[in-house]
Amino acid sequence: MSGKLEPCPFCGSENVRFESGKHAVVCMRCKARGCIAPTEDASRDMWNDRVRDDHAGLARVNIGEVATFPGAKPDKAQALKVLEEAAEVFGAWQAFDDYELLYECADVIQATCNLVAAFGVSDFAPYMEECRMRNEERGRFDG
Ligand SMILES: [Zn+2]
Repeated sequence: MSGKLEPCPFCGSENVRFESGKHAVVCMRCKARGCIAPTEDASRDMWNDRVRDDHAGLARVNIGEVATFPGAKPDKAQALKVLEEAAEVFGAWQAFDDYELLYECADVIQATCNLVAAFGVSDFAPYMEECRMRNEERGRFDG
């Protein structure tokens, strides 16, 4: 698939273009940036897929950028930390404590990002994009 870039899914601007020197689409008005892809065609497809998902009314969660703990190691302890935090999410859910549950969800994301960074990954967006594509293939975004 190739062709034109859809307008920005965040602000609606049609002033979107490929970021110079990178295979990523950027909105010149609000500076929203699509995923960095191996090719220009792939970055266009990801950008346009995002716009299509928005038109389909799919909800999204913005988690922003996550600073990670410098001491995290790519070891069993850090992997277990994710599991430990996830168990606390379940505990909060069992206690019907919505506020605590959201706090614990944030801790899961923090622990996960610490683990990801410990493995030397600073841009997780391509992994989330692959996850999105897998779930799309499985029909998980269908209403
Ligand atoms: Zn924009």
